[in-house]
Amino acid sequence: MNAERGHHRESRRGGTAKRTARKLADGREIIYFDADPAKVREAEDTRELPPQAPASEMRRDPLTGEWVAIAAHRQSRTYKPPAELCPLCPSTPGRPTEIPEADYDVVVFENQFPSFAQGIPGEDSAVEGVPMVPSAPARGRCEVVCFTSDHNSSFSALSPAQARSVVDVWADRTAALAETPGVEQVFCFENRGEEIGVTLHHPHGQIYGYPFVTPKTGKMLRVAEEYLAQHGRHVQGDVLAAERAAGRRVVVDSEHWTAYVPAAARWPVEVHLVPHRKVPDIAALTDTERDDFAQTYLDVLRRLDGLYERPLPYIAAWHQAPVRVGRDLSWLRLEVFSVRRSADKLKYLAGSESGMGVWINDVTPEQIADRLRST
Ligand SMILES: [Zn+2]
Repeated sequence: MNAERGHHRESRRGGTAKRTARKLADGREIIYFDADPAKVREAEDTRELPPQAPASEMRRDPLTGEWVAIAAHRQSRTYKPPAELCPLCPSTPGRPTEIPEADYDVVVFENQFPSFAQGIPGEDSAVEGVPMVPSAPARGRCEVVCFTSDHNSSFSALSPAQARSVVDVWADRTAALAETPGVEQVFCFENRGEEIGVTLHHPHGQIYGYPFVTPKTGKMLRVAEEYLAQHGRHVQGDVLAAERAAGRRVVVDSEHWTAYVPAAARWPVEVHLVPHRKVPDIAALTDTERDDFAQTYLDVLRRLDGLYERPLPYIAAWHQAPVRVGRDLSWLRLEVFSVRRSADKLKYLAGSESGMGVWINDVTPEQIADRLRST
């Protein structure tokens, strides 16, 4: 273990919440995070579930060098159940859900249909007849995070204290998954809205522990390394300083965070939330930075929902340092972006974006920043 990793292990974990880990009927782990230290979590999962047998495989595209996870078992996953059948609501007598307890603050459990999981049998190999395509069991971990037990709420409707609890849970999971065998990068994210393809309306996010450094992160690390060699400073630090000085695209700022529309935004709505201090991941944020983030993020989310006077579909994606490499080159960042380009139009990733990775944005970042500031 190198020094960087050692430092990571000592970093802050999940704040002050009481943490209770239990098992679901099929052996998956569920972890309750309670603000009340007296809370006892001992409800049993009464469902009859077959034991978990995840079987995801990953294969590396020899032309791009990128891994693709192949998780055919996910086809049978729950698709837009009615509210009374929501698997993320607490259990009620006669209707057991994924959460055996009758209430919860924030809860995390292993995804029933994981793209990456521990305990997948098999070994590293290659696709039969095509030896240049490596294949391997997709060993990592996929978790679901329920932000609140209130089915009809949303992240933007959480209190600052509740939002702060979620930050602590992200920190806990980032540190825990970094210690999970084979995990190379931890990705906390939220998909919100049917337009994004969300199949469950209950306010929740997900956490992926990938068994490799993701292509996007790998590319950003190379750019950061080149910039550092050329200028002696971190590229994100320079962008942050320039955006704060220009002010043109800043949406909100606080003592420890700035939220701005990036000058080269790809999405019709896109906001980056960046801590003023260079930290590799959520687990490394101080109490003050976490509190400040909760306030700033809630402010940003309310502005986003105000844009079209209805809940905005969005993806919120945490960019964190990989577990073992490039930690010194990483600067934590949350990106929130939307496919909604007007009140009644969606942005589709068509030929240029999907085929070539070249983005065409119909909205200028400056226009969107103006609207978000005045919302
Ligand atoms: Zn629900």
